[in-house]
Parts: sequence; C-alpha cells; structure tokens
Amino acid sequence: MNHLFSLIRSRMPALERTFIETGDGRGISYGEILALSGRMANTMCDLGVAPGDRVAVQVEKSPEAIALYLACLRAGAIYLPLNPAYSLAEVAHYLQDAEPRLTICSPGSFEGIGKIASGVRTAVETLEASGGGSFMAKTAQRAATFADTSRAAGDIAAILYTSGTTGRSKGAMISHENLACNALALTILWQFSRDDVLLHALPIFHTNGLFVATNVVLLSAASMIFLPKFDAGEVMRLMPRATTMMGVPTFYVRLLRHPELSRATAAHMRLFVSGSAPLLAETHAAWQQRTGHAILERYGLTETNINTSNPYGGDRRAGAVGLPLPGVSVRVTNPETGEALAQGEIGMIEVKGPNVFKGYWRMPERTRTDFRADGFFITGDLGRFDSSGYLSILGRSTDLVISGGYNVYPKEVENEIDAVSGVAESAVIGLPHADFGEAVTAIVVKGGKTDIDEQTVLAALASRLAKYKRPKRVLFVDDLPRNAMGKVQKNLLRARYKDLYASTV
Ligand code: AMP
Repeated sequence: MNHLFSLIRSRMPALERTFIETGDGRGISYGEILALSGRMANTMCDLGVAPGDRVAVQVEKSPEAIALYLACLRAGAIYLPLNPAYSLAEVAHYLQDAEPRLTICSPGSFEGIGKIASGVRTAVETLEASGGGSFMAKTAQRAATFADTSRAAGDIAAILYTSGTTGRSKGAMISHENLACNALALTILWQFSRDDVLLHALPIFHTNGLFVATNVVLLSAASMIFLPKFDAGEVMRLMPRATTMMGVPTFYVRLLRHPELSRATAAHMRLFVSGSAPLLAETHAAWQQRTGHAILERYGLTETNINTSNPYGGDRRAGAVGLPLPGVSVRVTNPETGEALAQGEIGMIEVKGPNVFKGYWRMPERTRTDFRADGFFITGDLGRFDSSGYLSILGRSTDLVISGGYNVYPKEVENEIDAVSGVAESAVIGLPHADFGEAVTAIVVKGGKTDIDEQTVLAALASRLAKYKRPKRVLFVDDLPRNAMGKVQKNLLRARYKDLYASTV
C-alpha cells in the first residue's frame, strides 16, 4: 500500500470531474491527472529514480507540477520543491545537500543547473509552465498505468526547505502520515466537499499552497482554479465562480484596495482562510465589513503542517490563531526549561502529534535540539493561550527584544502602533544599544496621506505601553520587506538599521 496516494485514490470522484482549471480556462480532470502522474512515475523509474530517492523540482506553477508531486508519491520518491526565484547559487546548495537522483527545472535554468548537476550526479530534465519540456516529451511515450510503490505511513513523502530567515535553511522531512492526517483533519474541520472550488493563487513550492490547499482539495474530491500568481484583478474576476480561498494576509490587504470587492462579488464564497503570517485585526474587521465574511485564521509551519485553526462554525477571532486541531497537542512553555506555563502566560509554543515532521535532513544534531525529550517540537514561536483555549502568536522567539533586561514582545508593541491613526502597519525590532543591550525600534508604514511623525506615534503610545516597551526611535518607510509568503523579513530590517544607535555602543 502507498500510504498517502492510496488515500487520495480512494477518495477520487468520477474521473471526468474537473480537478484543476487554469485562469485561462484550461481544464484537467481527475482522470487526466491520474494518467499524467502515472506516465510521469513510469518516466521517473526509467531515469533510475528508486523509492527514497529525492526528485528536486524548480518549475513555474502549473497543473503538470502538481502531477509531478503525485508522481513522486506514486513512485515512492521524495518530492523536493524549490522556489523558482532561487538563484543558481542557492539551487546549488540545495542540490548538494539533498543529492537528488533527478532534477526537473524550467528550460531557462537548464544550462546553469546542468553545470551543477555533474558534481552531484543528478539527471536534469525540463518542464515548461505551458506543459512542454524534455520531461513531458519523455512521459508522452510512457504508459498511463503505474503500479504504485508501497510506502509506509512513516516514509518520507517530501523535503521542504524552510525559508531560513535565520541561519542555514533546513530540509524538513515530511512523512506520508504527516500529510495524510493533517489534510484529513482540515477537510473535516473546514467542511470541504466535492462541491468546493478553491481559488488557488498561492505558490506551490511552499507548504501552504502545496500541501494545505492541494491535499485538502484532493481528499475532498473538490476542484481548484489555478492562478500562476496572486493578482488582485484576476482573483476578483474569478471569485464569483469559487467557493473558498486560502491566502496569506497580503492577499486580503491587496484585495481590500480593489474597488470591486463587495458582498456581491464574495456572495458565492463560503470560506476565506489566512495563514503563514499574522493577519492584522484591522484587516479582519475591514474584510468582514466589506464582504460579510469573517476570515478564518490558522497557524502552521513547514515542519508541522497546520497546528491550530479558528473554528468553522464558532467564533473566528481577529488576532488569534484558534484552537489545536483534533489529535494535535499544543503547549506553551518556559523557553529555557521547557516547563509548561499557566494559561495566560507568554512562552514557547511546542507541538506534538501525527502532523509533526520526522526531523531535518542530514542535521541530526539540530533535530535533537529542536525536540524535547517527550517528543514535543519546539516551534520557535512565542504565544499565549487565552481563557477559552484560543492561541495567539506573539512572534518568533528570535525576534524577541530584550531591552534593559526586560522582554518586549514585538507583536504587543506593533498592535498598539497599528492602532494609531495614520499608521498602515509596523514592524518592531531590537537593535544593538550600549545602555539597553537592545533598543526597541519601530519601522512604520504610513496609511495614505497623513502628517503623523515620530513624535505623534510616541505620544500615542505613552498612555498605552509601559516605558520599557516603547520604541526609542520610530522610523518611516514606504514598504516593509516581505518574502514570497508575505512574512516581514525582520532580519533584513535589523541588518539595515544595525548602526542606528552606533554612537551609544
Ligand atoms: P513556514 O514554515 O514558512 O510556513 O513559516 C512558519 C512560521 O510562519 C511560523 O513559525 C510562524 O512564525 C508564522 N505563521 C504561520 N501562520 C501564522 C499566523 N496565522 N499568524 C502568525 N504567524 C504565523
């Protein structure tokens, strides 16, 4: 038995039903994806891919790229998606680390990757966004039927490299069971059915668009409309045909700027999900007011899939990431000792359950330090449970600012700054300071035409925050630096402003 694929296969609808439709109207049925993934799995075997071998994939988003993921599952290979934006030097690092048996890339990268390939002994094939390429040419000659390779629940289905905003990027080894149990839980929790049409504008090299979205659609026999990338106009055009969307907060912020967003355009939708980065309470409120829908926020990591979710039927709270999924244990601990903290206290979020990954590829030491002896994974996120069991995230522990010996949680300060009239959003960081060790510093984006300045913000915070939490400086920028998933890259801000208090150091 093939743990994940046989589950997907057992839940497939009639084969003529649509699985993916592209924004320009190309349709791929379940039968077609099954046949294509069979051809691809046969081709992989021809190219020498054996169970447990890695297949690295750096291609543009397309239905064929999803077929490639399924083909890897079926052949028992380990799927290793890479962001198409990675430079050749970055790709070289991943290929050297993962040693894939086969690498599939866009035609434009073929020459560069070919040069790296000889050093790591990987075969290189191409796949175009339109469905062409050398790999596709080979698949055309192969049979559509494939005897799926047997895989156990604990076998590795994929390696996803973490975005690596601090230190070296790590390959998270994710098992068939990790993916299967999480997607099943979400299918039930978010009430997915075969009538659902998911508007898919996320990238598919990241866990959110690849696993959360695609596996949930597959396990509920639903369909998706695939957009190559997020484009507010395209999302607005297609929304009346969809029933659900999974997005990152930036999607919602950009859609709110679109004049056509209204109750009428969102009338056919039943669910909007947000995750991968914090959704501002203000965005949640504005969305509800404009569309009548409360965005459902959830919390996950590459290493764990989804851990907590606001309820489908109950209270979807702004600024909270909801309750632990069934079967997932979440606790908040003292970061140093690992001791569980009382409800209401802020500490390290730790997670245990069938959703939690098997460890970091070829980093046994790092894997050991990131797990507690009782099996809980130390997420690196700081959080707090409220009295009704809802979890809130206060940021990465690496973003915690320690000023004059006091812990300052950036999120708490950001929430207060964001509430100041004229502020669109903010990022609070710690910068080296001779007296304080780290000085709380706010980087602020103004919301439209406003005459707020550093003094206005500081004056507004004076009555709201203890003195040690208040920024020593408030700087204004046009935009905060973000990665592909909309996460603010605080490491870049810290590097940019590292000498701000140089005269004090
Ligand atoms: P990634 O592995 O790229 O999915 O990033 C995981 C990280 O994203 C988590 O450790 C959190 O810091 C952050 N994250 C994910 N979902 C949320 C959320 N709903 N609110 C705040 N942060 C989130």
